[in-house]
Amino acid sequence: MTSPWTAGLQIRGLDDTPIADFLCGHCGAHKRVTGRIEVAKFTATNPAVDHATRCNPSAESHPEPPAATASAARHAATEKAAA
Ligand SMILES: [Zn+2]
Repeated sequence: MTSPWTAGLQIRGLDDTPIADFLCGHCGAHKRVTGRIEVAKFTATNPAVDHATRCNPSAESHPEPPAATASAARHAATEKAAA
């Protein structure tokens, strides 16, 4: 592995204070919980599936859909040509 981070759910520190990390490989979202009870609750919710329902990387990086922008540009060009 070249990166310390891999997407998905990782749990460590089980001998002391458990730490659970969830990293989304699509949008880069990261959530961490610490503590035996918190980790148990967190993993019980199946964070990977829970996040997948909300994961939308394109919405964050592109506030406006590219199709709408292209359509607006085409519309402006049409207006200019008609004038
Ligand atoms: Zn995501």
